[in-house]
Amino acid sequence: MIHLKTRILVTGGAGFLGSHLCERLVAEGHDVLCLDNFFTGTKENIGHLLGKPNFELIRHDLVAPIFLEVDQIYNLACPASPIHYQYNPVKTTKTSVMGAINMLGMAKRVGAKILQASTSEIYGNPTVHPQKEDYWGNVNTIGPRSCYDEGKRCAETLFFDYHRQNRVNIRVVRIFNTYGPRMHPNDGRVVSNFIIQALTGKDLTLYGDGSQTRSFCYVDDMVEGVIRMMSGPDDFVGPVNLGNPGEFSIRELAETIIRLTDSQSAIVSRPLPQDDPLQRKPDIGLAQQRLNWQPTIQLAQGLEKTIDYFKKKMRDPAGNGGTT
Ligand code: NAD
Ligand code: UDP
Repeated sequence: MIHLKTRILVTGGAGFLGSHLCERLVAEGHDVLCLDNFFTGTKENIGHLLGKPNFELIRHDLVAPIFLEVDQIYNLACPASPIHYQYNPVKTTKTSVMGAINMLGMAKRVGAKILQASTSEIYGNPTVHPQKEDYWGNVNTIGPRSCYDEGKRCAETLFFDYHRQNRVNIRVVRIFNTYGPRMHPNDGRVVSNFIIQALTGKDLTLYGDGSQTRSFCYVDDMVEGVIRMMSGPDDFVGPVNLGNPGEFSIRELAETIIRLTDSQSAIVSRPLPQDDPLQRKPDIGLAQQRLNWQPTIQLAQGLEKTIDYFKKKMRDPAGNGGTT
């Protein structure tokens, strides 16, 4: 049978970012295959898509090869929060490296275009600020974050070698901290941690003195950037930074969340985890120039939507937090 729709594979499609991406691609009418092993993703995240004729779910571990016929691949499979990726660090590296090899092999075999969800973590604890794509990074090869950082760095290397050696049509995006509805409530990332702590009247756990900075991008902005990169010209393969250049200290984030939730919670100090980057902010000049993309949702606005989601999720844990 001849396929007229674009068949798109989203690995890690039942996760936080992947589920939003699947939702958008399904709404655009594409044939979407969501592949996930449900390590950190959930069926609730994509439950509302299961009945759609142009959505299909495949339970599979990307470390093992798989044979599918598709036109595009978004490779997102990999736990993203420090707690989850450090749970089984060997598996994290395997997922990034063997997952990339398996997906690049598929892209080569069927001639698919393939996008890698890389990360700001490839810059490590940066000595250059803000981070531009031509900065090579400052990464510890043997620390607790290395399984994630080095796995993602190796995946970038594989993407560019398949591109040069086998002419695979690649795209690489470096995603900076992204937040929004469907973040895993227990994944330990700062936005979900602080919101849940504030909503339940628990102390907000500030690691270190809270002067370390991050730039937070709302998920809808990120999905738009990722899709623009996939749809962009073939001569622009990246890597390209995607993130919100607004930079906040983690203490400011805690105070903002307490204010937005009207919470009585206090802020308490906890030790700063090893190798926790002290500052991070994307230079998004390249994305602005080549993709005409920049975030449109301010932090307070995005936090309100996320707080609303977690309130609904706490009332109905089996539901999807009213995100459909
Ligand atoms: P997430 O943990 O919610 O999603 C990852 C998904 O991959 C989950 O559904 C998980 O079950 C699945 N997965 C993990 N290992 C797998 C395997 N071996 N086989 C098949 N599926 C597997 O995380 P997220 O925040 O949605 O991140 C998605 C991607 O974006 C990741 O590759 C991550 O590295 C990247 N990224 C995210 C952020 C962010 O701030 N959210 C920042 C930088 C990069
Ligand atoms: N953080 C914090 N309290 C928490 C969780 C995280 O102060 O309960 C800090 C963490 O030390 C880091 C920042 O918030 O400096 C962002 O952490 P996250 O795990 O969300 O992302 P990443 O470190 O990967 O950017």
